[in-house]
Amino acid sequence: MLQADLRSLATLHRELEARETKIRRLVEVDIIGCFTWDLEGQIIEANDAFLHMVGYDREDLATGRLNWLDLTPAEWLDRDVRQFLPELKLSGKLQPFEKEYFRKDGTRVPVLIGIAAFDKQCSQGVAFALDLTKRKRAEADARESERRYRELQMELAHANRVATMGQLSASIAHEINQPIAAVIANANAGLRWLGTRRPDLDEVQQALRRIVRDGTRAGEVIGRVRTLVKKVPPRLDRFDINEAIREVIPLIQAELQRNRVGLQTGLANDLPLVPGDRVQLQQVIVNLIVNALDAMAGVSDGIRELTIASGAAAPNDVLVEVQDTGPGLDSASLDRLFQSFYTTKPDGMGMGLAISRSIVEAHGGRLSATPNEPRGAVFRMTLPVQETLTRTPER
Ligand code: ADP
Repeated sequence: MLQADLRSLATLHRELEARETKIRRLVEVDIIGCFTWDLEGQIIEANDAFLHMVGYDREDLATGRLNWLDLTPAEWLDRDVRQFLPELKLSGKLQPFEKEYFRKDGTRVPVLIGIAAFDKQCSQGVAFALDLTKRKRAEADARESERRYRELQMELAHANRVATMGQLSASIAHEINQPIAAVIANANAGLRWLGTRRPDLDEVQQALRRIVRDGTRAGEVIGRVRTLVKKVPPRLDRFDINEAIREVIPLIQAELQRNRVGLQTGLANDLPLVPGDRVQLQQVIVNLIVNALDAMAGVSDGIRELTIASGAAAPNDVLVEVQDTGPGLDSASLDRLFQSFYTTKPDGMGMGLAISRSIVEAHGGRLSATPNEPRGAVFRMTLPVQETLTRTPER
């Protein structure tokens, strides 16, 4: 009987030893940080992986200097005590969560940690910790390169618009000079009416009205230019695409005359409002018009006609088409038009269509080019009426 008892005790002992060896092996392989703790904050045992993570050594552990309450920064401790401790007491374990520990040198290490209690009172337990430093750094790097990408896109979009504005400055100057010349003429007329022996106040009043009208017009042109050049964050309005088109036409009027280009517009009625950044999409339209004018400048025979049309497109899109009667597009260039830095102009940047497409796509739309019949090119922009802004095209 006694013999049998001793034998089974020995077996039990061997089994326990084997089990402990397995657990030790698990802890000591140091794949993951591992420590046992008590509720007073004491870290009783820890493997090298954990000690390494927090920058302490075995001696610190042996002298009881490792305390998880001290290792936890105040803002995390508050959450640990108020939220996690009651949860641990309830279920005996905690699903992995992220927190930080102070290293011995005072810096912080981000960790993913899972916890299990040994008993119902949760007076002691075990914790597994994974060092998240590398992952956090990779995340920060990804965020930084995303930020740089956006910044670059913003700078390019801005640079491009400034360049476009440079090309358009002649026509803008004309737009502003015209009302200013009219203001001067009317002011002179008013002065003359006042200078006569019997001043004609009716005429003076009319001249003053015209001055106010023309002054307002000049102010509006300047306002429009300013919104086009300014670096403002993209606005998500719902706006009337026809109105947006009508607003850019005065800016190109003088350029059309200078190039002897006729303008046709075919704007559809009753189009739904488009969600997006009106100024950015106007920039796209201006780019397409400037390109069309450039293309037709090289054509000496035949008519020069620019057509701007709007319409509805299935199922829920609004479209804008800019057509010209220039030399058109051959199939080889069709593939490359929208690539950055593709240009056939001696002073071209080759960024206009690339940026235009990125703006349109950021609105969930498409920008494409096809040959026009019988000659020239058609650029077509389709925009969804439902809000689908994916990436904010900042400026
Ligand atoms: P850039 O105007 O600086 O050259 P873009 O991206 O605006 O850059 O245009 C790239 C190229 O696409 C132009 O250089 C031109 O060769 C071609 N292109 C653009 N619009 C037209 C058009 N309406 N007709 C013919 N070719 C065009």
